[in-house]
Amino acid sequence: MRKKIVIANWKMNKGLSEGLQLVDEIASDSSIRSNDVLKVIAPSFVHLASVADKLKNANGFAASAQNCHHVKNGAYTGEVSAEMIASAGAKYVIIGHSERRQYFNENNELLAQKVNVALANNLVPVFCIGENLTERNANQHLEVVTRQMKESLYHLLPADFSKVIIAYEPVWAIGTGVTATVHQAQGMHNHIRSEINKKYGKEVSSATSILYGGSCNPQNARELFACIDVDGGLIGGASLNAEDFIAVIKSFGS
Ligand code: PEP
Repeated sequence: MRKKIVIANWKMNKGLSEGLQLVDEIASDSSIRSNDVLKVIAPSFVHLASVADKLKNANGFAASAQNCHHVKNGAYTGEVSAEMIASAGAKYVIIGHSERRQYFNENNELLAQKVNVALANNLVPVFCIGENLTERNANQHLEVVTRQMKESLYHLLPADFSKVIIAYEPVWAIGTGVTATVHQAQGMHNHIRSEINKKYGKEVSSATSILYGGSCNPQNARELFACIDVDGGLIGGASLNAEDFIAVIKSFGS
């Protein structure tokens, strides 16, 4: 049985007191506090230690970074290493978000290095893959995500690959209000799992958590999470207020 996971990606939103208040509202909600969903919150770097500290005794909650630098340490002014993230109390790190790929020119090769430093510091990489609209319209979406996994993850030994969470995020659905249909989401998640099966075998592929991200909200989460290969969500906009985020967390069928 794969773990159900919902991750809040706050991106570059929320000041410290506002963010901590939101964490309090979410973590104190009795309807989700002891359910079987792993709930992860990814604030900005500067608030990571405070959020991690608040969540450290909250059962079923953890903190995540939104990014990390690709080398261990050194003269990289303004950057944040995986080791620093781990020392702040986070357990997860989002790697390869499409906004990082698009605005910061992060490519598959660089992202492979980020995955390596994350794992070396016992952080769980939440590795984002997904096609843009041009690639989808050209019917290249399956090969795009396969290439992203091949070039950034397939160097890993099975034991390390098994630690990775995959987030399928079609770029055309992120922050646009356009969500993948159930058919599109399940089709892609099934493709991703069968590619992992080809490379790492059934035991690894059936245990890998594959999350959906892209305008997932309380209105559509239930049908998306009901897909057999969708194990939860990476949530942007709908994670910025407690009511919506809690509703998304409660969207798994029983
Ligand atoms: C995201 O940024 O990972 C995301 C899925 O954003 P949104 O939910 O706002 O589309």
